[in-house]
Amino acid sequence: MHAQNPVFIPGPTNMPDTIRKACDVATLDHRSPAFAAMFRPAVAGVKRVLKMDAGEVFLLPATGTGGWEAAITNTLSPGDTVLAARFGMFSQRWIDLCQRHGLTVEILETPWGQGMPLDRIEAALKADTDGRIKAVLATHNETATGVRSDIGGLRKAMDRAGHGALLFVDGVSSIASMPFDFTAWGVDIAVTGSQKGFMLPAGLAILGVSDKALAAMDSATLPRTYFDLRDQQKGYAAGGYPYTPPVGLIAGLARSIELLEDEGLDAVFARHHRLAEGVRRAVAAWGLEICAASPALASDTVTAVVAPAGFDGTEVVKLAAEKYHVAFGVGLGAVAGKVFRIGHLGMLSDVMVLSGLATAEMVMADLGWPVRLGSGVAAAQEYFRGTVRLAAAA
Ligand SMILES: *Cc1c(COP(=O)(O)O)cnc(C)c1O
Repeated sequence: MHAQNPVFIPGPTNMPDTIRKACDVATLDHRSPAFAAMFRPAVAGVKRVLKMDAGEVFLLPATGTGGWEAAITNTLSPGDTVLAARFGMFSQRWIDLCQRHGLTVEILETPWGQGMPLDRIEAALKADTDGRIKAVLATHNETATGVRSDIGGLRKAMDRAGHGALLFVDGVSSIASMPFDFTAWGVDIAVTGSQKGFMLPAGLAILGVSDKALAAMDSATLPRTYFDLRDQQKGYAAGGYPYTPPVGLIAGLARSIELLEDEGLDAVFARHHRLAEGVRRAVAAWGLEICAASPALASDTVTAVVAPAGFDGTEVVKLAAEKYHVAFGVGLGAVAGKVFRIGHLGMLSDVMVLSGLATAEMVMADLGWPVRLGSGVAAAQEYFRGTVRLAAAA
């Protein structure tokens, strides 16, 4: 039998059939009005999802990593300094990308499982009296550890420091699944990819860019050609792209936004919170810990489950794939083997989550982990059946 089980990786996410179908479009001349008619609603929809009231949205043929690159190469110059906390594999990879572009990264080493250290960021900005730091890089949801940082709090810390650095936010595993407020948080560039909260195939880097960041493009001298947003802006003025766009993905994105807005963004966020809470209750019932150091840091899109001493989280992921054809996420970098991850973002329901928890229990039992079959599923069931109407009303 060819099983089509849901995936429990934190991206790519499960795709609704209606979005998959929307991506299936006949060949279209991207210089025709028909393309503009498809493209403009997608851009306007992303602005609403990000809560932007100014600036511009760019949809680049790339993934989240290309979005990081577009963010820095369009706004910074060789030798510029950026400030970043390193507290997981994704914050690490963005730092590495900056270093390879010749930027100086002032790194705040932070234990994995913690969130961004707002007090230390504030202190670093206050100490930067000659304005060397041009941008602060923030990983909103560290997908490696299942930690959500407080971007609104980060904005306040930057304001308290009275520092004019740009604020770049990696929202790849948060946007469209957890609350995100580009305007209220004073974000200068927000980055995401099509294959996470937007429930599309991989292939689009999605960027929200503030007017301040757009203005920085004129003086920035890092080399860029394909990702040069000034070319994109010229294309926009003519209703399209400077090169051939991925038309199917853009059509799918417009459909994705319709689905998100039909459900209601607040309801989408509440659903993710509730599903995450069910997962967390299951983990507690297993007698296991999550990687996030405190409940306030726990992500609503991914949970990193800490393996008990003497056990290897990667084994769970391997056996789940081989024996039950279900995908979970491995631990990355410093937590490789120490955790396995349950992704719970995108198209997901109570029933799907329960199937993932049940599978994880079978695998852990197969591997001799001290986890009782049914314990986590029961905890999640109790929580889900007790909150189902609450969530519908939210
Ligand atoms: C998935 C992810 C990325 C990388 O995105 P790609 O689309 O794989 O390039 C970056 N940051 C975070 C937080 C992610 O979860």
